Amino acid sequence: MSVLKQLVAELNSGALKVVDLTQPLGPDTPVIGLPEMFGASPGVTMKVISRFDDKGPAWYWNTISMGEHTGTHFDAPVHWITGKDLPDNACDTIPAKRFVGPACVIDVTADVAKDEDFLLTPARIEAWEKEHGKIPAGAWVLLRTGWNTRTDPAKFLNVGENGPHSPGFHADASRLLANDRNVLGVGVETVGTDAGQAGGFDPPFPNHTIMHGAGKFGLASLRNLDQLPATGAVVIAAPLKLVNGSGSPLRVLALAPA
Ligand code: MN
Repeated sequence: MSVLKQLVAELNSGALKVVDLTQPLGPDTPVIGLPEMFGASPGVTMKVISRFDDKGPAWYWNTISMGEHTGTHFDAPVHWITGKDLPDNACDTIPAKRFVGPACVIDVTADVAKDEDFLLTPARIEAWEKEHGKIPAGAWVLLRTGWNTRTDPAKFLNVGENGPHSPGFHADASRLLANDRNVLGVGVETVGTDAGQAGGFDPPFPNHTIMHGAGKFGLASLRNLDQLPATGAVVIAAPLKLVNGSGSPLRVLALAPA
């Protein structure tokens, strides 16, 4: 049997499941807060064009407006100054092949429960690899932190007196994944792929700086990573084909053993 026939058969039989890793996208979707001197993320607005009325008696549709980096979304290399001159670095020019890859899920939920500012380190990645095997080139590395249970926007963004607190990546971990493991990118459950306090790191926002400088991607605000095995799932994460787009909201799907 061809692999695609087998895929369809196993999806139909229930041996494989489709896991939706996406947050609902709407006016209630929490967005990142930036210091006042920077442009703000506008959040989602939806305005009815027609709804079975004079403007469209038999059809319903909306106008939607939001920043590219809203809700569950994709970060393209052109999003960051380090990736701005790379070839094929925007939503419309990245080869579609690079949106699909095996998932490596690193579970640090217990660490994050103790420390909201937990950072993934190279040592932690190597410990994961001892148990599950080396992260293959072209993998999506997904950081499972338990942050998806924070459905209250205030707890999700978790902004304190000295800024937001949420887990992320040590710069050396981003370097290991981008340069030595040659991953597609990283995915997180938090509002962005850098830790809440990362504006004060060296370099600032190290994961964005390093990943996008190496032509790698980011996925933010994922859910349901607890439904994936550490290895063995395949993630499909294709942004809208926005011309010169720096990112886009998207539906992230994983195919996984049931
Ligand atoms: Mn983003």
